[in-house]
Amino acid sequence: MFVPSSKLPQVGTTIFTVVSQRARELGAINLAQGFPDYEPPQLLRSLLARAVESGANQYAPMGGTEALREQIAGAARARGWTVNPADEVTVTLGATEALFSSIHALVQAGDEVIVFDPAYDSYEPAITLCGARTVHIPLMQPDSSVGWHIDWQRVREAINARTRMIIINSPNNPTGAVLQRDDLEQLAALVRDTQIVVLSDEVYANMIFDGGQHCSMQIHPELRERSISVFSFGKMLHATGWRVGYALAPAALTRELRKVHQFNTFSIAHPLQWAIAEFLKAAPGHAAELSAFYQARRDFFLGLLQGSRFSWQPTAGSFFQLLDYSAISDEPDNEFAERLLREHGVASIPLSPFCARPPGYRYLRFCFAKREETLVSAAERLCRI
Ligand code: PMP
Ligand code: GLN
Repeated sequence: MFVPSSKLPQVGTTIFTVVSQRARELGAINLAQGFPDYEPPQLLRSLLARAVESGANQYAPMGGTEALREQIAGAARARGWTVNPADEVTVTLGATEALFSSIHALVQAGDEVIVFDPAYDSYEPAITLCGARTVHIPLMQPDSSVGWHIDWQRVREAINARTRMIIINSPNNPTGAVLQRDDLEQLAALVRDTQIVVLSDEVYANMIFDGGQHCSMQIHPELRERSISVFSFGKMLHATGWRVGYALAPAALTRELRKVHQFNTFSIAHPLQWAIAEFLKAAPGHAAELSAFYQARRDFFLGLLQGSRFSWQPTAGSFFQLLDYSAISDEPDNEFAERLLREHGVASIPLSPFCARPPGYRYLRFCFAKREETLVSAAERLCRI
């Protein structure tokens, strides 16, 4: 039997795919993989049908349709960011492609890229495929005064002449941590006068709770110059299966990103771009309502868990809530997640696959982008443990 030599020998199938498959097999409630179990807005769905009828069926422009790039830039301007739709916006195949193409455009063999653990699982394989090294810095765990946060002194110590990129993810998957203005200042001071690019994964930008603010790289003129900010219409429009995202970056970075994008995916499904652009025109307030929408879901879910043996700090952003199970078990997180799935019929995501070294956490990640009845059924099971 022919066995090819693997470029990614350590990589298996993603934890999200594996757990969703197991949940289907076992008929479990799936609060694991991050996707809503409700539909995208009716208007958006009907616009997609209209897009196909309207003839948006041939290749879209490589960087994205003009109409969609205009909408993206307009929404960015409404937040006070300056974005030129012609050469600072690139529509991509989900955030996943924006991240992958950005890394491939900018990282070379022998470079180092800093990520913060627990880190979203797509970063490291892309870095490895470039022949570069991933440098993992653990996020600091929350204490009574502050949530999950970056220890900037450790970042300072990790930076050297080979450091080419720092990947930031705020709001963070899986912890929900949200970067503060002061974090941007610390980051700016560290990258000043270096060749380091900031790849900023902001896919949960519209899900920030309790009055918090999204500190995008776009609000900081100095960081903006060397940053690619990545967003996902999958999250914003409750349409993870549409696989449309985008990247904002100054023209010089956009040029490099598009060199890879054009040979990776070339351009993104035309009818999807057409429908999204029309939807954003018709419903400009949609994104601004998401934080309240998801905060209500978070609070509903946590309300249902009162009296359970789990403990938590309400998540600051994203549609994920970590639950601490240390009062229930001292099993490692992947074993406890497996038992929860098998014996109690609730699928969740352990954090150790997001970490280079076993972190010893006793947390599981639960997605609350679910209908009320799904959350009620899951919480009933969780409260019985
Ligand atoms: N980054 C993070 C932090 C994510 O959680 C996800 C997906 N859930 C992505 C990127 C990928 O987004 P998309 O589905 O748009 O490719
Ligand atoms: N980002 C999603 C999550 O964290 C999963 C995306 C995927 O399965 N590729 O659950």
